[in-house]
Amino acid sequence: MVAPCMFLTYNITMLIYDLDLSDLTQLLNEWNEPAYRAKQIWQGLYQHFYDTPEKFTSLPKSLREKMDSLFDSPIKPKLYLDSSDGQTRKTLFELRDGQVIEAVLMKYDPDTFTGRGRRTLCISTQAGCAMGCVFCATGQMGFKRHLSSGEIIAQVMYYARMLKEQNEVVTNIVLMGMGEPFHNYNNTMEAIDRLNDPDGYKFGARRFTISTVGLVPMIRRFADEKRQVNLAISLHAADDESRVSMLPINKKYKIDDVIEACRYYIAQTGRRVTFEWALIHGVNDTPEVAQKLASRLKGLLCHVNAIPLNPTAGYEGHATDRQRAALFKKALEQAGIPCTIRMKRGIDIQAGCGQLAGAVSS
Ligand code: SAH
Ligand code: SF4
Repeated sequence: MVAPCMFLTYNITMLIYDLDLSDLTQLLNEWNEPAYRAKQIWQGLYQHFYDTPEKFTSLPKSLREKMDSLFDSPIKPKLYLDSSDGQTRKTLFELRDGQVIEAVLMKYDPDTFTGRGRRTLCISTQAGCAMGCVFCATGQMGFKRHLSSGEIIAQVMYYARMLKEQNEVVTNIVLMGMGEPFHNYNNTMEAIDRLNDPDGYKFGARRFTISTVGLVPMIRRFADEKRQVNLAISLHAADDESRVSMLPINKKYKIDDVIEACRYYIAQTGRRVTFEWALIHGVNDTPEVAQKLASRLKGLLCHVNAIPLNPTAGYEGHATDRQRAALFKKALEQAGIPCTIRMKRGIDIQAGCGQLAGAVSS
């Protein structure tokens, strides 16, 4: 029997992952259950990754029955694809209203220093995206809706559960899937805070990376909150004319404003900023562009993460080849800006940066 519910909204629109511990405690109070049960449920969710009430075997059956509605299929994994090297898995999830999102797990070989391989999970914060960056498949599909904090968390719990079966854990979470996290600021931060909870999943703030297209007021707010989460900024161009042709948001927030906000962030937090750069042949990959970029970034605690453009259906530009990429990196480094050229991951299953469109086409 489902309990009489004062918190009707929880049953209709919310998932269990949308609740924080105090919400859960309040709900149990409404159900006339002792408060310590909230902690037990919390640990079941975030330490054991239980996904159905039956798995909470230490709880009385009557309470498990009351919990039924809270597990009302938050996100449904519809299908997954593994890359041919077996190192990348993309999962497509259907939300309750039929929207689809994707999350990608990337496994890396053990590094010589720690002997452990990173397990980096890339998650979505919105279905679609309103920012319309021309080379991004998510941008090409337009904005559908924000994800709730619980829908963001559910992607992590799904993979955490899967990795647990292989005696592995997620080591890094990047908010670089579908959507612009700073356009859905509150839900994104709530999700991070909940995943960070020392009594729950305990995922360290420094192991999260948020990537933003450069929403200046939100970068400043993020800086004021002095979070330990890593910040990455999608820059892709060293002058406004070029940037606006790729990233329409640059009409509103110019490169100078973005860099100023980053300077503020660094001053507030002492943390290094990453600038992301999709290398596009003949567009933003010459040593001259690298020099211009270096002069803009001079004196900033930062580095540049460059990745040859991934192909998407709606954009004609081509990826920079290895040789040109190396020259770009060299020019930046000679001008004093550290740069890494990132490996492409999951391209054969359209799981690379900017390729997530909620449709599996291979
Ligand atoms: N909305 C956020 C995070 C999601 S996109 C942002 O834009 O930062 C994650 C990264 O992929 C961003 O740096 C984005 O610019 C980049 N990206 C988008 N399309 C790409 C493509 N086709 N090839 C390579 N990188 C791409
Ligand atoms: Fe949105 Fe980021 Fe894609 Fe731009 S690159 S459309 S901000 S997801």
